[in-house]
Amino acid sequence: MKYRDEYRAPDAARGYADAIARITTRPWTLMEVCGGQTHAIVRFGIDQLLPEAISLIHGPGCPVCVTPIAYIDKALEIAALPRVILCTFGDMLRVPGTQSDLSAARARGADVRVVYSPLEALTVARQNPRHEVVFFAVGFETTAPANAMAVYQAQREGLGNFSVLVSQVLVPPAIRALLERPGNRVQGFLAAGHVCTITGYEEYEPIAREHGVPIVVTGFEPLDILEGVYRCVRQLEQGESCVENQYSRAVRRPGNAMAQQVMQAVFQVVPRQWRGMGDIPDSGLGLSPAYRSYDAETRFGAVNGEAEMRGDCLSGAVLRGEIRPDQCPAFGSRCTPERPLGVTMVSEEGACAAYYRYRRPTGGSARE
Ligand code: SF4
Repeated sequence: MKYRDEYRAPDAARGYADAIARITTRPWTLMEVCGGQTHAIVRFGIDQLLPEAISLIHGPGCPVCVTPIAYIDKALEIAALPRVILCTFGDMLRVPGTQSDLSAARARGADVRVVYSPLEALTVARQNPRHEVVFFAVGFETTAPANAMAVYQAQREGLGNFSVLVSQVLVPPAIRALLERPGNRVQGFLAAGHVCTITGYEEYEPIAREHGVPIVVTGFEPLDILEGVYRCVRQLEQGESCVENQYSRAVRRPGNAMAQQVMQAVFQVVPRQWRGMGDIPDSGLGLSPAYRSYDAETRFGAVNGEAEMRGDCLSGAVLRGEIRPDQCPAFGSRCTPERPLGVTMVSEEGACAAYYRYRRPTGGSARE
């Protein structure tokens, strides 16, 4: 197939759903760990096409959503300082911190700028030599090479007024943590295709082996996801647990060597807090000693504090796949994209935002 519409063909989708139904003999629970897949599943009703026995649950697949509230508070603290320009991607602006968000900070006069790439933040630093320019780097492995490249370039140029507030996270340790949580009910995973374009999928192989779960590297279009589900269910029904690559048009087993090289030069693996998941060993990236002077935490003090927001938002449970967004009592009433109570309703990739956009209370609800 060559064109996007071909990956959305309704007849082919029904064909996959029928094939899944034919091989399914008992209930199975699968999880996707990718906000793009979550949105496609909800938008195209993929979960509703599947047999009753297959439950698709949404995991911590939105990098903005899993960023601990302590990092939002730190970004707010830095942005409030004089002669500081804080650069970030647009979807961070309305993520609530403990007291406020970056959008409100900007309205109060803080110099908070939306950029479309970390290299644009470097340009801001070049153009404003009398200001400290801080880039708020949030994301999975997908964004790490470009963020690493910005730091590498800053050092090459001797750009002393640039630094990065790093909240980069890694997917495989989170999958392990989910599998090791008491009461885990996930039996197979759809791994995020875009993450694996960078990292490849060798790191997923011991997880599949040790935990006895199939992991299928999967793309984002409806037929990709249905094929990912089919392959997962086929393994489960046959008692197998290995890694398969459904997204072979973009992903190779070793990943992208050049991207990995720059990541490994600039970053090192560190423990990280995840919203909804708590501390996960080796689940994040921090700047390596050679680049530590570009770390905003070195310049402005370490991030300290809670991962979670207190209050009645259940986004932690949503991120762990324990509840669906439409099972939250505030969904669509007290919590909407215009007046969000939590990050999973704010972020473009958040599961609550997906349910609100495609399945708000007047438009029917999802089947588990
Ligand atoms: S619907 Fe709103 S309050 Fe409920 S979990 Fe989602 S973001 Fe939180």
